[in-house]
Amino acid sequence: MSDTIFHKIMQRQIPADIVYEDDDMIAFRDIAPQAPVHVLFVPKRDFATLNDVPADAADVIGKLAVAAASYAKREGFDRSGYRIVMNCNGDAGQTVFQIHLHLLAGAPLGHFGTPGR
Ligand code: 5GP
Repeated sequence: MSDTIFHKIMQRQIPADIVYEDDDMIAFRDIAPQAPVHVLFVPKRDFATLNDVPADAADVIGKLAVAAASYAKREGFDRSGYRIVMNCNGDAGQTVFQIHLHLLAGAPLGHFGTPGR
């Protein structure tokens, strides 16, 4: 197993506000939220970036997205809306090299993707 901060959270070596866990993933609140709701969905299989996920592991990504949608339904913001994001490498601002899906919600989120913003 790799040794990122997210692996330490999975192994309960450092604390986090965990909102969901199953055999495939763990989900916890981001320590520096960028929206009123900001939850990270992290698979238990190790992949540093999206580039490292082979076609035969596509279900790993699909399960993260479905879990995020289920969480949105449970928490009641599925209809008001939410955004899921996966950053890959430097230009996207990836800082933790274990793949993770950001779920952002709880307010109008505006536009995204503008260079340098
Ligand atoms: P990235 O920039 O790699 O897509 O996202 C990494 C995210 O992890 C950031 O939004 C950052 O705030 C969050 N993060 C970094 N360290 C910790 C931590 O120790 N605990 C939690 N809960 N989130 C963290």
